[in-house]
Amino acid sequence: MSTPRTVRAARGTTLSAKGWPQEAALRMFHNNLDPEVAEHPEDLVVYGGTGKAARDWRSFDRITASLRDLEGDETLLVQSGRPVGIMRTHEWAPRVLIANSNLVGDWANWPEFRRLEAQGLTMYGQMTAGSWIYIGTQGILQGTYETFAAVAAKRFGGSLAGTITLTAGLGGMGGAQPLAVTMNGGVAIVVECDSSRIDRRIEHRYLDVRAHGLDHALELAARARDERRALSIGVLGNAAEVFPDLLARSAPIDIVTDQTSAHDPLAYLPAGVAFEDWKALAAAKPEDFTQRARASMAAHVEAMVGFQDGGAEVFDYGNSIRDEAREGGYSRAFDFPGFVPAYIRPLFCEGKGPFRWAALSGDPADIARTDRAVLDLFPDNDHLARWIRMAGERVAFQGLPARICWLGQGERAAAGERFNELVASGEISAPLAIGRDHLDTGSVASPYRETEAMKDGSDAIADWPLLNALVNTSSGASWVSIHHGGGVGMGRSLHAGQVSVADGTELAAAKLERVLTNDPAMGVVRHVDAGYEEAERVAEAQGIRVPMREG
Ligand code: NAD
Repeated sequence: MSTPRTVRAARGTTLSAKGWPQEAALRMFHNNLDPEVAEHPEDLVVYGGTGKAARDWRSFDRITASLRDLEGDETLLVQSGRPVGIMRTHEWAPRVLIANSNLVGDWANWPEFRRLEAQGLTMYGQMTAGSWIYIGTQGILQGTYETFAAVAAKRFGGSLAGTITLTAGLGGMGGAQPLAVTMNGGVAIVVECDSSRIDRRIEHRYLDVRAHGLDHALELAARARDERRALSIGVLGNAAEVFPDLLARSAPIDIVTDQTSAHDPLAYLPAGVAFEDWKALAAAKPEDFTQRARASMAAHVEAMVGFQDGGAEVFDYGNSIRDEAREGGYSRAFDFPGFVPAYIRPLFCEGKGPFRWAALSGDPADIARTDRAVLDLFPDNDHLARWIRMAGERVAFQGLPARICWLGQGERAAAGERFNELVASGEISAPLAIGRDHLDTGSVASPYRETEAMKDGSDAIADWPLLNALVNTSSGASWVSIHHGGGVGMGRSLHAGQVSVADGTELAAAKLERVLTNDPAMGVVRHVDAGYEEAERVAEAQGIRVPMREG
């Protein structure tokens, strides 16, 4: 049966595969396509424009069957969402190795990708869509929360109370923005052209209210700001029209960013195109549509620069909109920075990044238990404790219950060890899948995002994510992936992911200790190599060996 259908991960402790690592891969693969989790599950699209979990429904069926059949010393190979081989390996090897959307340099552009995709030869894997560790909008929530917290610290005395943020995009990832702003005490106006996405974010408690129009949005925002009350407001419209309109009205905006799917011009709605005509027009005339989208992004970014000229804090939130606007003919597109050099790099130097885990039992009580474990493990980290408590109260789970928190070198291994003990003792009712975003300290080369403006100019050096995947493969991860084009689009990034299963066994404990030490250590090493002193301090304190510093 190779037709679309509703998918939901199994729950509980009954296995349909031959071991927990295989079962975990199967459940996380299926979980990515749960309608509660995926943005467009009928098309196998999980998030981020066209980020898919499997190439087509036949591949979905064959991956499912292969994972059920896979022995504990075998490895399934997945090439851009299609299972292509099962190899005899050994029990320390990953059970699944995944390569998604990779193209040779000169061919690494959207038109060539789409040509190959239309022939059924590849798929777009985004970051955590094709690597089966997407956990819904919460996955980006803490990163977005941290980013807005950094903005608050830099410009607004540590809180966003009394400020208005303007942004766009309420998709799978962008939908985290309103909650991240209100968690920091601020007011957010979020422009979205798809009415159903506004409803979905309200339903999932990420967005507070929908405004009837722009005047209403501004009225609600000004009132909440004056009362220093946190509030998020969704407004239906096209950002390429609404942002310039708000600038022309001199709207009192303090912070501006954007999270439309700008990385893929066909996933950005140009001004003047009706929402209902979007898909058909993009499919019929992709080149023409791309030009129109880029021209609109130019107008959109020009308004963002206009807000910056007026004193607002403005940043690119990792969707490559600046480069698309530049392609659209706007010369000042790079006048504002990307969020990583502006706020996040010091965390990357400490090996910190988006650590996450999912409860394969399906039982929210298991996540509550892990939340308590994290609070116990790091009693002095107030910032982390605030996040964990707030997430416990305010984050609605999508699909399998999951949690994310940013942990650094040493911390991730400690958490992994503790989680495995909790599974072993039965305090947690079934194993946990422990992974992370590819947007991490040492797993990505992306010159418009994670590696923008590196100290030594090594932004486009892509050896690091490949080494990261090789290290995780050698260290005992349960599945490892190498992708191209995630986040910022074709030709602009290479990145790697890993997921490791805590099933309570001694073998899992040994693997987790190595993977969760070596994976963030890649980030520390990468930043040492680029000349960051903070990273050198962490390497020394954590005993991470860097040969070039030893002799
Ligand atoms: P998505 O495709 O699920 O959602 C994008 C949303 O933008 C859609 O709801 C769409 O209707 C809306 N949109 C498109 N054009 C618009 C326009 N002109 N005006 C208003 N709304 C418009 O994508 P997503 O998962 O939310 O990701 C958004 C972007 O963020 C992607 O480019 C993705 O690669 C990037 N991203 C950034 C990070 C980060 O950490 N900063 C992480 C993941 C993804």
